[in-house]
Formats: sequence, structure tokens, C-alpha cells
Amino acid sequence: MPLGGLGEVGKNMTIIEYGRNIIVIDAGTMFPESDMLGVDYIIPDWDYLRDKKDLVRAILITHGHLDHIGALTHFLKEFSAPVYATRLTRGLIEVKLKRERMLEQTTLHTYAAGDVIDIGPFTVEPYHVCHSIPDSVGLGITSPAGLVVHSGDFKFDHTPVDGWPTDQAKLAEFRSRGVLALLSDSTNADQPGSTPSEALLNDAFHTIMREAPGRLIIATFSSLISRVQQVVNVAQRHNRKIAIAGRSMVENTEMARELGYLHIPTDVLIDLDQVDKVPPRQVVILATGSQGEPMGVLNLLATNGHHSLRIQDGDTVLLSSHTIPGNEEMTYGVINRLFQRGADVYYGDQAQAHVSGHASQEELRLLINLLRPRFLVPIHGELRHLVGHAKLAHELGIAKGDIAVVENGYPLTFDGERMQIGERVPGGYVFVDGSLVGDVGPLLMRQRDALAQSGFVTAVARYDRRAGKTVGQPRIVTHGFVYAPDAEDLLAQAGDLVRSTASVKRGTALATVEERVEQALSDFFYQETKRRPVVTVAMVEV
Ligand SMILES: [Zn+2]
Ligand SMILES: [Zn+2]
Repeated sequence: MPLGGLGEVGKNMTIIEYGRNIIVIDAGTMFPESDMLGVDYIIPDWDYLRDKKDLVRAILITHGHLDHIGALTHFLKEFSAPVYATRLTRGLIEVKLKRERMLEQTTLHTYAAGDVIDIGPFTVEPYHVCHSIPDSVGLGITSPAGLVVHSGDFKFDHTPVDGWPTDQAKLAEFRSRGVLALLSDSTNADQPGSTPSEALLNDAFHTIMREAPGRLIIATFSSLISRVQQVVNVAQRHNRKIAIAGRSMVENTEMARELGYLHIPTDVLIDLDQVDKVPPRQVVILATGSQGEPMGVLNLLATNGHHSLRIQDGDTVLLSSHTIPGNEEMTYGVINRLFQRGADVYYGDQAQAHVSGHASQEELRLLINLLRPRFLVPIHGELRHLVGHAKLAHELGIAKGDIAVVENGYPLTFDGERMQIGERVPGGYVFVDGSLVGDVGPLLMRQRDALAQSGFVTAVARYDRRAGKTVGQPRIVTHGFVYAPDAEDLLAQAGDLVRSTASVKRGTALATVEERVEQALSDFFYQETKRRPVVTVAMVEV
């Protein structure tokens, strides 16, 4: 059953259940949309698992991107099952667990491509896949019902940065055993042809490092370890030193160097505060914030808010990333401000400084043909991606009835012969807002939206219930609706309205009076301004 990542891009999570045994694959986060005010990120809804806690045998992680590990700390606060991850992925997870002070109480196992691990009735076989982060795996999971292959995020890159292509031999071996179901990445199912190799980026990096007249600031995801390696390799050829900016970039590169997944010679690396001592033409700064995130280095540079770095004449900024849908506004805002500060900025397709880590149509076809699964379940993608993937599989001869295009929460049952799509398990968005997890629901979201649209007005008055009227002058407070000093008249009228509306039959309940006044004020403001601010009224009994 998919619990996340189907019908959306992000917060991936799938569970595989056999008898009284459950394996969880990935636990990722998703970026909020721009109308989800105040939400930091979204995690999968795993309510289905809450009364099956004892059945969860393991959490298997395919790779270290946030849409696969971002929700793990939240998950582990509720479930104590052991986590399996490859070395680099484990390193990235440990960084997160340390931050939350959860490292000690978590059981972590390292697995590697080629291992065969028995977990309850399941045999798990991770196999190597190419992706935009090293040490990614897909999973072969055998249960008495048959072999299920979960592709993870993958592409077939023949010249990957780490020289380790997707393991086609293992896929062929799976096929020889017979594959019951393939769960395959659909992120790029609408892209014809094959995804270009990472190697293609070397040209773009060479060109920009040759031509940038001063410092070069390259922004990318801190988890794109392969991209960081490429930048380092090319920078060395151009005699440029590397400085690293942004907490997650510093932590991740340190960890990846320690584990041997990232090679930066010590004399190439300089401290961020040492940058000014090196001629600008010999500097590359690797930075966070390619999505325009408020706390990312790029935004801090754009707003002059970084503690040690400032944009200076001759700076070139390169966004080596693709903007995740929903983040465009923030990203372009940051780009505009960087231009304003005098930097030259390269971004998007024209920069040619990003290739996708996901398989395009030809590669999806290749995976299906290598495995020839009995059933196909497109995973990782919006509905349009899942449907596109299904069409493509149908063209390759898989019957429509053997392909399950489903969104999160639909259980798929395989008895070795047939596939059944069951009733959807209820679920929704679980918002994380600071330390609030799941407490922020759709109702609160609508209230925040109303506040953001028109602000609020609060009226406070002392109230004599026996007399049935207010005592003294009500106090009117407003934020984000009208600028109070300029709207004295309007607010004075509102005060009068509070007094007149609150004059009711003696002994009326306070709540009733408050409600009545709220309604009257709301109507009054709408009549006067054509806006409906959020109105609250507090009567204090005297
Ligand atoms: Zn990924
Ligand atoms: Zn992913």
C-alpha cells in the first residue's frame, strides 16, 4: 500500500504486508504549496500503521534524498523498528537523528547493493541504481506471494559521476526468477527519450568557471553529493578553491568526505571566512538555497542577511538545480534580488547546469523489458505521471488490468495470480509547522488564509450582564486590515456599533452577545470596505 508519493511529488512511503509482518519503504517529506501558510513541510499519513505497530519489522531506505528520509525522525518517534540504509544514506540519516538527539535509541543497520537479508517472511535484496546521489538502491523483496521489485529513484546513466551504473545483471537475474510486481519511479514519465548523463554537466561547469570574471557561487541541494563532486573536480582544473556555505551543505559534505563518497583535497578547501584572502577568480562557493528557501544561503545573500558573505561586483551565481513546482515564486524572487545586488545569475534551462536523476520514457521501457513483471504499479509522481507510465507499459504489452494506477492509501493485494485494488484507507496531509506535527489541519489553514487575505479586528469591552449593556468605551484593535491612525472614523463607528449591538435583554449569555456583535461588525466592515477581516469580540463581565 502506498502511503505517500502517489498522486504527488514527494513524501514517499510504501508498505509491504504479508501475514502479520510489515516492511516500510522510505519515509520522506514534501514541500508545502504556496497557499499552505506557515507549513514547513508535509509528512506521509501513516495512521494505518498505528494499530499495527508490533507488525512493523523494518524500515528500508532506498537513498538519502529528503523525499525519502525527511520524515524518518517523525516516524521513529512512533515506531521502534530497525532502519536499513546504505552507508552514505545512513550517514545522512545520522546527521538528522543527531540533530533531534535520537541517534542512541535508533537501531540502524547498514546494507549494501548485493546483500541478501532475511526479515521475517521477506528476503530483501538491495541492488545498485544510478541517481543524483551516490549509494542509491532499488529493492527486490521476496515473500511467499512472489518477488516484488521497488525501483527507488533511478536512471540508466552509462557515465555516472561515481562510475557505477545501474545493476542490469541483477535485474536480469530477478527476471529469471519471475517478477510478480514492479513498483517503478514515474517522476519523468512525461519526458521522451533518455535522461542525459551527469557527465553532460561537466561542459557547463567548465564554461562558467572559465568565463566567470570573479567569484562563482553555485547553489544546489546539499544532498546532491555527486553534483558537489563534479563541481570540485572541475574547479580544480581551473585552479579555483572551494568554500562551503550553509549548515546542511557543511554537514553533508563533511559526512560524505569522512565516509569516502566525496573527494575534496584539503588544499582545495578553504574556510568561508578565508574567501576574501583569495583572488575572486580563484573562488567557488558551494551554497544552499537553490529553491529560494528563506534560510538558504542564496536568499541570505539576496537580502544581505548572511553573517559573513556579501554579494560583490563580479560575482556569478549559478543555480544547479531544477525548481520544484510550487517554489518558482520564491526562487525567482531571490534571483531578481541577486541581480539587483549586482550579481550575474544563471538558472533554469539556459544554464544547462542540471540534469534530472530520474528515468525518462526510454529508460522506463528498458526497466519493464528487463524485468517483464506480471503486474506494474507506477509510483513516485502526480497522477499525470502515473497515467503516462501506465500507457507506456501498456504499449509494451502489459494488459491494462495488470497495471494499477492508484493514489496514496489504496491497498493492492497479490495472491500470486491476481491483483486486487481494495478500498482506500482514509488519509490526508500531515503538516509540520515548527514543533507542531499534525495539529495544523485544513480548518486552521483556512483561518490563516483568511487572516492573510484581510487581517483581523478585535473588539474588547467590559460588560454588565444584569444591565444588558457594555460599560465604558470598547477597545478596537486591528492588524493587517486597515492602518488604524488613518481609519479613526471607521473604528470609532465600529466602537459605537459594539455598544448598540451589545445592548440586549438582561441576563443574555455572554457568548450569545459576542456572536451577535461579531456578526454585526463583520457585516459593517464589509459594507464599508468590501473586505471581511477576521473579527473576534471579547466581553469581560464586570
Ligand atoms: Zn531521489
Ligand atoms: Zn525521490
